[in-house]
Amino acid sequence: MDCIFCKIADGTIPSKKVYEDEQIIAFHDIQPQTPVHIVIIPKQHIESMNGITADNSHVIAHIFEVIPQIAKENNLANGYRVVSNCGKDGSQTVFHLHFHLMGGKQLNGKMG
Ligand code: AMP
Ligand code: ZN
Repeated sequence: MDCIFCKIADGTIPSKKVYEDEQIIAFHDIQPQTPVHIVIIPKQHIESMNGITADNSHVIAHIFEVIPQIAKENNLANGYRVVSNCGKDGSQTVFHLHFHLMGGKQLNGKMG
């Protein structure tokens, strides 16, 4: 399967990693939209939010358990935003489920 985030997960494509364990990996976004912009992915291929099921949701729970640690280690003590774009109207461009962890400045209150 030709999936750029699967390739980042297996190391075929390099990334600026900030966190990794057996289930997930987090790395700096290649085109940051905020001073801190980290992408967090499950290592297993899940296409989008719509692919979350009772069988894989423990991995998503794990991502959210680790987010406070990643935020703390990347100087987001003042707060941050977590976003997942889903499908066409959500402007998803990489079809491997991921969460954007964004911050490092006062973010705009508008989200759409
Ligand atoms: P989305 O538009 O929500 O699907 O987000 C995809 C994100 O992945 C965008 O913010 C891209 O800048 C980012 N991205 C794409 N390719 C890479 C890559 N090789 N390394 C890091 N981030 C990437
Ligand atoms: Zn993938």
